[in-house]
Amino acid sequence: MTKNDLCEFCEGGVEQNRIQARFNFKGETIYIDNVPAWVCVKCGEHYFDAPVYKHMEEIAKHRDCITKTLTFPLAEYDMALS
Ligand SMILES: [Zn+2]
Repeated sequence: MTKNDLCEFCEGGVEQNRIQARFNFKGETIYIDNVPAWVCVKCGEHYFDAPVYKHMEEIAKHRDCITKTLTFPLAEYDMALS
């Protein structure tokens, strides 16, 4: 992808940015911070260049070396709100 390409969904322009990416690898989800990506300025959809994707795959394979773990509350949409 280049800065002249358009978003596949809404045809908005894209710009290079660094995002926190969620990456699925063999049924496991990992989050990777500061991943270079193309982000649609209109709908926020993001695209990764092939080498970036490959690199995330390498990170996922070495996930035993990840030292930081995030915990965050996970709500259920149908939870009781009393
Ligand atoms: Zn878009």
